[in-house]
Amino acid sequence: MILSDTVETRAAQALPRSLYAAEDGPRARAPLSGPAEAEVAIVGAGILGLSTALALAEAGTSVTVLEANEPGWGASGRNGGHANPGLKTHPDEVVRDFGTETLHWAYDAPRTLAALIDRLGFDAEFRQGGTYRAAVSEAGLRDVEALTAALLRHDIPVRFDDAAAMEAATGCTRYPGGLFDPAGAQVNPLKYTRGLAGAAQAAGAVIHCDSPVTAYAREGAGWKVTTQGGSVTAGRLLIATNGYSGPLVPKLAQSLIPVFSAIAASHPLPEALRGRILAGGGVLYETGTVTIYYRVDAAGRLIFGGRGQMEEADGLPSVTVLQRLAERIWPGLAAVGWAYGWNGRVAITADHYPHLHALEDSGLVAVGFNGRGVALTTALGPRLAAHLRGEAGALPFPVTPIRPIPFQRFWPVGVNAVLGADSLIRRIRG
Ligand SMILES: Cc1cc2nc3c(=O)[nH]c(=O)nc-3n(C[C@H](O)[C@H](O)[C@H](O)COP(=O)(O)OP(=O)(O)OC[C@H]3O[C@@H](n4cnc5c(N)ncnc54)[C@H](O)[C@@H]3O)c2cc1C
Repeated sequence: MILSDTVETRAAQALPRSLYAAEDGPRARAPLSGPAEAEVAIVGAGILGLSTALALAEAGTSVTVLEANEPGWGASGRNGGHANPGLKTHPDEVVRDFGTETLHWAYDAPRTLAALIDRLGFDAEFRQGGTYRAAVSEAGLRDVEALTAALLRHDIPVRFDDAAAMEAATGCTRYPGGLFDPAGAQVNPLKYTRGLAGAAQAAGAVIHCDSPVTAYAREGAGWKVTTQGGSVTAGRLLIATNGYSGPLVPKLAQSLIPVFSAIAASHPLPEALRGRILAGGGVLYETGTVTIYYRVDAAGRLIFGGRGQMEEADGLPSVTVLQRLAERIWPGLAAVGWAYGWNGRVAITADHYPHLHALEDSGLVAVGFNGRGVALTTALGPRLAAHLRGEAGALPFPVTPIRPIPFQRFWPVGVNAVLGADSLIRRIRG
């Protein structure tokens, strides 16, 4: 029985022209050719697919990862590099919906990532300088004050920083206050994803690039997963395609709002500016409808992200709004100039929680990281691996049916209208 729609075959794609791809050149790519077997097949070589593959291989389970392009081609290799603690939802709601263990698991996720990089010992430009959640309005200020109190009630050690402390941390007067969580960290996301791929392979996982999965079907008690060049027969199946989910799993793409997030990367900042903007290595995201996020990377570049056009971007002209916005916050930036602009798809869910879905009795889909996947997918991988190996109670979220969002295809258009360039500029002026 064929469970999936047939996916159109297409040529594999190169990485987007991001700062990360430019600095860390191309890798050898090996497509699947002919029939193969594994205990577990994984579709998608982002952080989620790879952290799951790593944990499976380390536990002695044979695993094959099939990736349409190359590891890190999706959001994992092009994101802002913030390893942020927690979920998008208020901690009281997380405890109500999933319990305290899931709340602490999510807030510990950057520490899980830190421990993993430390254990594996590869260079991902990791730095644990904390995450700032910065208010940009009086309402936002009340929210971060209340959130700080709520997290402290749940024994999560955060602190509230007032306007003066925020100015000292960011070199601008934009923030009346913010929440600081010392667990937050930053990585170069492509180096990190490629590091995971290398570690998974070293542990015994097989990874095939340029191998878009076109169909999956039941075969015996397991699955036959098909690509243009071959097939993998596996007892268990994991779909880890997040914002790049196409028609492979029926209704999956319709259950996610594929919002684009864009990033502009500056040339390395001069010492004076570098010493003012997040000099402690922290990362920052703003509260409010328009999420602006930034950090300064190991080379001293400002990596400044936010909403942009709702289609694939390529190059600096597609992120001029972000450049102008950053230059208004730190006027000295205009003289520094910009080097790269790119974007990618973030998978938003209706309830802002990650979603786990079952494919019959031995398949699983894990998607919907709502712009927080760097740390969360790292921490989720070992849990998915345990579940796929048959361990009960490993999952931090319940397995739910796929629920298409009504009028989903019009949502990105609506988001664009609300968060378009003019709106962004008005916000920064206000
Ligand atoms: C611009 C941007 C900035 C972001 N900033 C941050 C941030 O700072 N911090 C944070 O925590 N999160 C951030 N995110 C979100 C984060 O990157 C994602 O949540 C995370 O990378 C999701 O990982 P994943 O492995 O689930 O999916 P992805 O990394 O998107 O991987 C999915 C993979 O599936 C593959 N695929 C799809 N269909 C098929 C198929 N049929 N066959 C084979 N392969 C297939 C794709 O090629 C892709 O490589 C950002 C995202 C974007 C786009």
